[in-house]
Amino acid sequence: MYSLRAEVEFCAGHRLMKHPGKCHNLHGHNYRVVVTVHSDHVDPETGMVMDFSTLKSIMKTMIVEQFDHMTVLNAADPFVGVLESMAVPIRTMTGEPTAEAMAKLFVENLKTAFTAKISGIKVEVWETSANAATAFLGKCV
Ligand SMILES: [Zn+2]
Repeated sequence: MYSLRAEVEFCAGHRLMKHPGKCHNLHGHNYRVVVTVHSDHVDPETGMVMDFSTLKSIMKTMIVEQFDHMTVLNAADPFVGVLESMAVPIRTMTGEPTAEAMAKLFVENLKTAFTAKISGIKVEVWETSANAATAFLGKCV
């Protein structure tokens, strides 16, 4: 079993409209996303599970380019209509845009870009240097 690990960062705003505390307010994070890809297979020609540059390119396309400098909101948030009317770029999610929800979305999106030789994907979404949520898909030993 092999695992490859790569990181990307992006800045985004969000709020948790159902949160009883300060996370209800619009605020932002310097998100750090760590993706770990698991596989039992190394290509005999290249000696690699996957080229790190390929992994980073997929992460940049599917995560950074989609979320960097966006405001991420619950699709039911009243701010959605307000910001759209002001042509402010937003991303909406079904439910609260928590680190857990982002990790789940990223892991599900990434699986569409990987080959069948990948047995598992782990995505960690760090909101701060101390707090992260992790989503798993497949076999992640
Ligand atoms: Zn937050």
